[in-house]
Amino acid sequence: MIDFSVEPEFQEKLDWMNAFVREECETMDLLFPGAGTMYDMNNARARAHLEPLRDQVKAKGLWACHLGPHLGGPGYGQVKLALMNEILGRSSWAPTVFGTAAPDTGNSEILAMFGTGDQKAKYLQPLLDGKICSAFSMTEPQGGADPTHFTCAARRDGDEWAISGEKWFISNARYAAFHIVMAVTNPENQPHERMSMFIVDAQTPGIEIIRNCAVFGEPAEDGSHAYIRYNDVRVPLDAMLGEPGGGFRVAQARLGGGRIHHAMRTVGRCQRAIDMMKERAVSRQTRGRKLGDHQFVQGAIADSVIQLEQFRLLVLKAAWMIDEVEAGRLPHGAARQHIAMCKVATEAVMHDIIGRAVRLHGSLGLTEETWLAQFWAGVQSLAFADGPTDAHRSQLARNLLRDVTPVEGHFPSDHTPTRLSEALRRYPSAR
Ligand SMILES: Cc1cc2nc3c(=O)[nH]c(=O)nc-3n(C[C@H](O)[C@H](O)[C@H](O)COP(=O)(O)OP(=O)(O)OC[C@H]3O[C@@H](n4cnc5c(N)ncnc54)[C@H](O)[C@@H]3O)c2cc1C
Repeated sequence: MIDFSVEPEFQEKLDWMNAFVREECETMDLLFPGAGTMYDMNNARARAHLEPLRDQVKAKGLWACHLGPHLGGPGYGQVKLALMNEILGRSSWAPTVFGTAAPDTGNSEILAMFGTGDQKAKYLQPLLDGKICSAFSMTEPQGGADPTHFTCAARRDGDEWAISGEKWFISNARYAAFHIVMAVTNPENQPHERMSMFIVDAQTPGIEIIRNCAVFGEPAEDGSHAYIRYNDVRVPLDAMLGEPGGGFRVAQARLGGGRIHHAMRTVGRCQRAIDMMKERAVSRQTRGRKLGDHQFVQGAIADSVIQLEQFRLLVLKAAWMIDEVEAGRLPHGAARQHIAMCKVATEAVMHDIIGRAVRLHGSLGLTEETWLAQFWAGVQSLAFADGPTDAHRSQLARNLLRDVTPVEGHFPSDHTPTRLSEALRRYPSAR
């Protein structure tokens, strides 16, 4: 039986988070906007505001709650994480305030699983403590959704690996202390066995940030997605994380969780948009009536609430299935379809609900006076982060169609009727 209720002590934590995120983190969104601001360790004003908030989160025992017990975390299952993430999703800053910001979350998983003792001491602990941030360097200019086109390569040279090639759209590389880089090491292997994963200190000679790309009207100087060239970047042999040719397995270890966490946070973003729509609907007048008395506005709010409730239940079910797989009550891979469904639905739900909220706020919705414009810009970004929505949509359909038996001829007779002519052949007296 599926049950999303939680014990009272956990509900108390959720209630505290809810009040704190609304009061403090949503205020930070307005004070310090911009996609990369929360990763900029040199932004003294933002850091000064951030640290006392982090102290409060730590004092409540809510810091880095995504971590499993192997990393000193509480090991909450995905259902509890979903309930927490939907609160954090209300605010761009909240994941940084609570120590659960991507890509650092996934990168810490990789380091915990594949890093050496020295690498964990140098990079993992400061990452978990929120003292540094990191970059995940996989996409290339000529190969995005299909990594079999990647060409950035690592060549063994004595007791070093030498990495050369280009990477594209690497979030936060300009602020990162290290990069986790995927590079071709075994070109002779099958397409998905050609690449390995490396940890590269950001200070290593040869790392060239060609430019930082800004998206959707952000000021160019705020761009936080790096176009990078690795020019014969030298790292020691133990910089390889996992096996030679095992880069995909390492990447998969981090991407699966990320997809569902984006969906969980989308619930929160959309809830915040609906809260704002409702407030606006009862506060503003046009043509002698409140906005909320106009039928189009009523429709926008009702449709948004219905759509979000459907999406939230889908996300919670996917989270529940992941927990059941991990507990051995569902078979390995049983949650995969639902994770893909969440990924596909995330973009559509956000597009519809944030879009309606922007429209209801008129010109105000386009400005930085509210956070709506920033989240609207994020709609299309979410469609690509962790792989394009269309690829997941296609994969989902292929899986759904894989075991369906084709019928022979236009009016087949030897299976359960699916057409009127078949039904009549079986029950001729029915008509
Ligand atoms: C905000 C943001 C942050 C990102 N951060 C990082 C990062 O930190 N590190 C990193 O390595 N990468 C990052 N990326 C890159 C991201 O992983 C890629 O954008 C994504 O993999 C898609 O690659 P692409 O942009 O080259 O699109 P393409 O691969 O060129 O795809 C373009 C379009 O082609 C269609 N398409 C492609 N393949 C398929 C398919 N199999 N089935 C159906 N349709 C398909 C889809 O319509 C798709 O939208 C980030 C992207 C964004 C937007």
